[in-house]
Amino acid sequence: MAKKKTPVNDTNLAGGSFTGVDEVSNFGDRLARYGQARTRALGMLNHLRGNPTSESPKAAAGLAGCGNYLHFREYYTVDKVRLHNAQFCKQHLICPLCAIRRGAKALGAYLARWEVIRTERPELRPYLVTLTVKNGDDLQERQTHLTKSLKRLLQHRRSFNAGLRGHAYTEMCKAQGAVYTLELTNKGNGWHPHCHMIVLAASEPSQSALSVEWASISGDSFIVDVRPITGDPSEGFMEVFKYAVKFSDLSLADNWHAAQLLKGKRLLGSFGLFRGVQIPESLLDEPLDSLPFWDRFYRYMGDEYQFTGESPKSHQYEVEKSKNLKVAK
Ligand SMILES: [Zn+2]
Repeated sequence: MAKKKTPVNDTNLAGGSFTGVDEVSNFGDRLARYGQARTRALGMLNHLRGNPTSESPKAAAGLAGCGNYLHFREYYTVDKVRLHNAQFCKQHLICPLCAIRRGAKALGAYLARWEVIRTERPELRPYLVTLTVKNGDDLQERQTHLTKSLKRLLQHRRSFNAGLRGHAYTEMCKAQGAVYTLELTNKGNGWHPHCHMIVLAASEPSQSALSVEWASISGDSFIVDVRPITGDPSEGFMEVFKYAVKFSDLSLADNWHAAQLLKGKRLLGSFGLFRGVQIPESLLDEPLDSLPFWDRFYRYMGDEYQFTGESPKSHQYEVEKSKNLKVAK
């Protein structure tokens, strides 16, 4: 399957952020996207400095130190480039560079689990299910409405599966496992939280039946979408794991507001066969230990990552590498 190429001037950083990431042939695009992500993070940094709050100094310090250097290793015998070292702020709701890396790690972890599941349960197929609630001006209220409605839908599934008396069948009973994220947009018509879910099922959940159920649960929205994930599963799965990168489509003020409101909230959940998948803590790539490599150092300068012959070791790199140091210079 042909890889989608994201134009480097595309402001939607979520597009094509994860697939084929370590191929040498994709490295230019990848580096350009990381550069755009870093530029957006610096936009947020300036926004925070211009609109200080009690929370902003710490966030700003993190952003200032994130991704100034990227140390890649090119494994030239297999044409792969892996991110070997960098300092990250791990504020993925306001830093699209960290969001891209975290999304890639989550995608990798769930794809690996799917590979195991599909050999054990060949009858199952993945479906992308989207559930929405009506737009509104109060993000907190809309977000709570979405999470409560989702909880009720999943409770219906559990109750029926457990054979509890008086609990009706739901289309979600077809799901043998699922992973989902909560995403939000605001395109000028109010906040629009929604849920993207990968459902593993032996037969396609009915969109119309699910729509009726969802309308009765949510009380304000019948809009759901169900479609099979065909072809390269990483393309379909990506739709779910780019939720944090999508924050960078919001205005800076909206992005900060949403990040403050959702800080500490769980935006990714799973059940059934997808329960218990561990997403690695590190945002770096796994090294290919036994293979020879060239080191490639890049530094963010003038809106993009530029190759630099200098080893960042001569700067504060060694200090930054120390795990105790989260806040930058
Ligand atoms: Zn970051």
